[in-house]
Amino acid sequence: MEKKKLTIIRTLICNKCGKNSKDSNGIFVANEYHEISITFAYGSDLDGLKYTFHMCDACAKKLIDSLEILAQVGEVGLWE
Ligand SMILES: [Zn+2]
Repeated sequence: MEKKKLTIIRTLICNKCGKNSKDSNGIFVANEYHEISITFAYGSDLDGLKYTFHMCDACAKKLIDSLEILAQVGEVGLWE
């Protein structure tokens, strides 16, 4: 199956579900989308590759909820 390549810059698209960052009024709601980046290191089957993609809040929450062991959680500081 051929994967679609992200080419639109003025909106964000969830790579998991395909939902985009504009609400029903066409307003850009980027704060509900998250960039996720994974760099695979030596020894990995994907050694040397870096994957970057976006997930909407709902898909990110489903991913977190699916973890067998709870993820580490912290509050985001104002000047982080
Ligand atoms: Zn999604």
